[in-house]
Amino acid sequence: MDLSFLLTGLALALFLFFLWMYSALVQEAERVAARRTLLLALILPIPYLFLAWLPFPGQTIAGLILAGFTVLFPLVLVIPSGRSADFPDFDPRPGVDERTVMFSRAELAPGSERFNDYYRFHPEHRSGDDHFRSLAGLMSPLSGKFEPLAFAAAGAGFAAVEELAALVEREPAVGQAQIDPMAATRFFKGWTVKLGAEDCGVTELRDYHKYSVKGRGDRYGEEIELNHRFALALTVEMDHRNLGQAPNGPTLMESAQQYLSAGAVAVQVADCIRRLGWSAEAHIDANYKVICPLVARDAGLGEIGRMGLLMTPRLGPRVRIAVVTTDMPLLVDCRIPDPALLHFCSICRKCADVCPPGAIPHGPQEAIDGVPRWRIDDQACFTYWCAAGTDCGQCMRVCPYSHPDSALHNLVRAGLGHSALFRHFALWMDDFLFGRSPERLPRVHWLPGRMNRSSR
Ligand code: SF4
Ligand code: SF4
Repeated sequence: MDLSFLLTGLALALFLFFLWMYSALVQEAERVAARRTLLLALILPIPYLFLAWLPFPGQTIAGLILAGFTVLFPLVLVIPSGRSADFPDFDPRPGVDERTVMFSRAELAPGSERFNDYYRFHPEHRSGDDHFRSLAGLMSPLSGKFEPLAFAAAGAGFAAVEELAALVEREPAVGQAQIDPMAATRFFKGWTVKLGAEDCGVTELRDYHKYSVKGRGDRYGEEIELNHRFALALTVEMDHRNLGQAPNGPTLMESAQQYLSAGAVAVQVADCIRRLGWSAEAHIDANYKVICPLVARDAGLGEIGRMGLLMTPRLGPRVRIAVVTTDMPLLVDCRIPDPALLHFCSICRKCADVCPPGAIPHGPQEAIDGVPRWRIDDQACFTYWCAAGTDCGQCMRVCPYSHPDSALHNLVRAGLGHSALFRHFALWMDDFLFGRSPERLPRVHWLPGRMNRSSR
């Protein structure tokens, strides 16, 4: 083939590829990335056209080198390679006491017996907790990110989740329906998706999935008895555009809505199972006996990343989780550890860079109770929430895995799973296109802008 035509063809292919990327990014309202992609679409073809049509000594050699590089570079990027040996799979230690979780500590009334008891056993938490208590607090009109409509909408969402609490645990009907486990599992997976879930998986319930002691509500301090054999975990998607507003009000609104969505699905599934005569319990926002991200991980829904959240294959951390535990026989999913994701987290650190209080570590995983993982400073994170008034979410907003579930980003996600070189290149491209600290997405048109208050 004539080299000039080959180079012209490559220039056209590059132009069309980046134009396709540009149109996808415009649809996602990613203005900065779209502008930079358009620039690449216009600039990258120039050297190809120059070498194709402007004669100069050495033109053929230079043209061959460029054409060869263009063909070989993508091939080299997708050659399978990895660092899986650096990220062996471990089971966490059992026995997490829910009373130590920040939400439980936030509910302690100063001066009460619970309050005094808790800090007698955990004096190390006292001064930091006193500090977050001195701040405006979550959803407070005095907080830094207050905006009336979004905060009121979030409050309405959380109030609706509270109403679901009455449905999480009830007695099963008399007489157990015997349903083939494969048929039951297929039904519940299909139905949860029909009800609005993004994904659903099943695992055997393990000791380290369960809190040891209740930390919230009327059963504070009670040992947790949960003898169900199976756990069904489900995820719901958080809207990319609203999360793109983090740490502002629309993100809080989105959290409330998706806690409600996940909770509504979970209580229906639990109730359905109980109507079939089997014991079942829903684990939803503020009513947990299990640690949802760990259950979801073992149900094959994702991996736990640097920011300590479940990272799902198609939406990254941009999900909320609910769980149903039950005795009804179900087929369990096979967990496939994802060392590629952990390797990407080890080089990315974008969430750690943007976290306002520095709650996410920058370094490698550490052995915590013998288990290698990244430890989040949950007190620093929650303290920031109490100042902002929202649940922040900036780490989720900037995570490269949070990009929409589209052909463009799924192509990248597929590459991330296969090649360490691709992971480095993809991170470099993500930084170049979106920025190391990506700008917030524009608000949807029906959401008013923020009132004029301090921005941080
Ligand atoms: S932002 Fe980067 S380091 Fe943080 S969780 Fe996402 S991929 Fe991992
Ligand atoms: S939610 Fe905000 S404060 Fe908390 S870890 Fe993420 S970025 Fe940091």
